[in-house]
Amino acid sequence: MTGLRDAAHDAPIAPAGATRLDVRDLNVWFDPPRGVAEPVHAVRGVDFSLGAGERFGLVGESGCGKTTTMLALMGLLPPSAEVSGQVLLDGVDILPGGEKGFIPRRWKQLAMVFQGAQSAFTPVKTIGWQLAEPIRLHENVSGRVADTRVRDLLARVGLPAHAARRYPHELSGGMRQRAAIAMALACDPRVLLADEPTTALDVMVQAQILNLLHEVTSENGITLVFVTHDLPVVVQLCERAAVMRAGEVVEEAVVGDLVSSPKHEYTRELFAATPSLFSIPARDPREAGVPILSVADLYTRYPVKRTFTDVVARRPKRSVRAVDGVSLSVAPGELLAIVGESGCGKTSTVQTVLGQVRPSGGTVEFDGRDFAHLPARQQRAARRRIQMIYQDPYEALDPRLRVRNIVAEPLRVHHVPRRERTERVLATLERVGLTPGTAFADRFPHELSGGQRQRVAIAAGLVLGPEVLVADEPVSMLDVSLRAGILQLLDGLRRTEKLGVVLVTHDLASAAHYADRIAVMYLGRVVEEGTAAQIVNSPQHPYTRALLAIAPDLARVGVRGEVLTGEPPDATAIPVGCRFHPRCPVAEDRCRTIDPVLTEGSRDGHRAACVLLELEVTTQ
Ligand code: SF4
Repeated sequence: MTGLRDAAHDAPIAPAGATRLDVRDLNVWFDPPRGVAEPVHAVRGVDFSLGAGERFGLVGESGCGKTTTMLALMGLLPPSAEVSGQVLLDGVDILPGGEKGFIPRRWKQLAMVFQGAQSAFTPVKTIGWQLAEPIRLHENVSGRVADTRVRDLLARVGLPAHAARRYPHELSGGMRQRAAIAMALACDPRVLLADEPTTALDVMVQAQILNLLHEVTSENGITLVFVTHDLPVVVQLCERAAVMRAGEVVEEAVVGDLVSSPKHEYTRELFAATPSLFSIPARDPREAGVPILSVADLYTRYPVKRTFTDVVARRPKRSVRAVDGVSLSVAPGELLAIVGESGCGKTSTVQTVLGQVRPSGGTVEFDGRDFAHLPARQQRAARRRIQMIYQDPYEALDPRLRVRNIVAEPLRVHHVPRRERTERVLATLERVGLTPGTAFADRFPHELSGGQRQRVAIAAGLVLGPEVLVADEPVSMLDVSLRAGILQLLDGLRRTEKLGVVLVTHDLASAAHYADRIAVMYLGRVVEEGTAAQIVNSPQHPYTRALLAIAPDLARVGVRGEVLTGEPPDATAIPVGCRFHPRCPVAEDRCRTIDPVLTEGSRDGHRAACVLLELEVTTQ
């Protein structure tokens, strides 16, 4: 019988449906750290077997060995790593050949998409050049043929042909990740390894990338191994999944079975820590307290530097309309979540509220006083009552300071007497669950886990006894179990200490789980606001509906919602009329001229900015 042959080893290629990638008893050891005798056993007897065209999820928290497993499959581990076991690709073991064996297989048989698309590209070469490079190296084709293939690849991942002439920094995050997938597909690999390819992306771009991976693997029978710590994403994309912990696969099953009847305790813990849009906890109806923080008609504009071409072409001066008429409020003990895509103005809004950016218009009232326009000295004094928690606990903490000094820093800045500081630092560490405080006070940030670092950041935010805490994506860099811990901590603080909390997030499920109210932002403006139940169960604005439709969720096995096409328009050129109309699936002609304002529908306090809702109200 004649059939397709493996070019590198002249072995037959498995027919569709047969086992394509068979990983047997894979083990990886690294050299021991200084002072330790035993090598680090990072991957322990991992087995899985995948057919052609199968999508397989490898799930686990940081340090569980999932990325090391992928690097072992690609032959990309450092020479000091020791690898044993078998990796059979179409029946041929690719481990024994070492680097020489891997070189002809990378790109052509096995390709990898890395987490940070920016670091996957060389910054000094164009995207087109970098996509053509593996084609030129692995296939004996002319430059003209390689260029045609690059155009085809870009079209395949939904990028315009002119993206080939761009440098990586000239593309948005989503476009760069598409280009990285195009590069991995350059030589038509049979197996694609994707290592957290959507972790750094917002929910809409993530959905676009997941749909793209689904499409390219279905159309071309490519076997996909998708590595992530995000269970709902695996549930949405993959057919089967394995859960890894401490280097071992603790459970493997068809995704539907894994969700409905997880067998291993660790899998159950991961599921329990993952919020779902379909199980929002019931909340007691809250009395609308007097807001401690009120933002009214807030505007923030950043001038855009004029280029030489702008001056020659006499283009008018432009500005980024980052915040474009936002009104919000939060009461003591209330948790308000602000959600939306990257670039929607969430972070600019909170920066303006905190006085880090001067507003171009509107008011920020804190406890009845215009906070944004207070004289600098008074604003500084008022700032101790409103504090911020940043996104990245790895960058927010000074690596040279001990925990006690990091937490004491705001006390020092606000001239709290030295004799009081130690006591307040230790008490605050214990308030955020770092108990006993003395066990953590003398550590440096690198001696803490990600969750502990974020707790230290929260302690630094709490030590002055603020009345409002603003948390900007405080859990997006953390593993699932750590996320739950931090969100529960914020939830507990607002309940027990009547702290007003503003939570900025792109994760609707977390917002729905912990927030009393949710404000959905699009292109600098709040387009819908209501209670968590109103937003999730009866969304009014088409943008909110689109966000909900694509949100990965444990209850949506294999469901991929309709993704909005295109990226949000440039904030320097906000469309006339409804700013959402270029992407709105139900836009009408009048949406090009009418700029809708937030209107309260028939439900208490539930407001949305859409002409369809205005019509509903006027016809009631
Ligand atoms: Fe869509 Fe028109 Fe409503 Fe805007 S006003 S959200 S374009 S239907």
